[in-house]
Amino acid sequence: MSPERYQRIRDVLAKRQTDLTVCLENVHKPHNVSAIVRTCDAIGIHRVHTVWEEKYKLRGGTAMGSQQWVRVNNHDNITDAIGALKSQGMQVLVTHLSEDAVDFRDVDYTRPTAVLFGQEKYGVTDEAIAMADQDIVIPMVGMVQSLNVSVAAALVLYEAQRQRQIAGMYDIQHLDEEECQRMLFEGGYPRLQKMCKRKEIPYPPIDENGHIAADERWWQQMQMSPAAIKALHADEAAE
Ligand code: SAM
Repeated sequence: MSPERYQRIRDVLAKRQTDLTVCLENVHKPHNVSAIVRTCDAIGIHRVHTVWEEKYKLRGGTAMGSQQWVRVNNHDNITDAIGALKSQGMQVLVTHLSEDAVDFRDVDYTRPTAVLFGQEKYGVTDEAIAMADQDIVIPMVGMVQSLNVSVAAALVLYEAQRQRQIAGMYDIQHLDEEECQRMLFEGGYPRLQKMCKRKEIPYPPIDENGHIAADERWWQQMQMSPAAIKALHADEAAE
């Protein structure tokens, strides 16, 4: 990759907010999923969480395929998802138009935070509401009851971004170097990365110019077929 591209990816990674995330509960229309993940990338979210009931899985999951810059954690159910987020010390906010909901601008997003968004028609589930720490709402004074989910996500996430910017949270790097290296290889060398995955070869280090800093053995393995690599490993194990 060129030094310019390397620097561009480094700059992006330096601003990733590892303790801010969203959880999409059965949000399944591909254009909504894509739009939300695009907003996540734009404001520096590194990882998003998803939960799809079986009937929504295919559509939502398909839209995730093209997302190269934002990691995706899919969970089997909302209980697991919220449990995982809470175990990471996150406050879990659920976007829900209820009596108890607070205005989304009155929340402190500088705390480790996960924001939950619900299905396009039915919203979030009762389980999600029961487990979340706080309902938040985007005030509505018009004739329609709710916003499109991707619009709602953009509003909430840009408020989080605004608060974090003021707090200086974009001025310190949160992502560890190991993850940066993975992202640099995946983003800078997508063809080689696919090959590594297929052949089950570990990613090489990337140097400060954006070049692959691998040893001879790594390059040799990249030339070999998956079967030849397996045979090589078996030979080495037998020695
Ligand atoms: N009838 C559904 C309900 O009562 O939740 C509406 C679903 S809405 C179209 C889809 C999702 O968009 C919601 O689950 C929520 O995540 C988000 N959303 C839309 N409008 C919102 C608002 N005004 N405040 C908070 N979240 C909103």
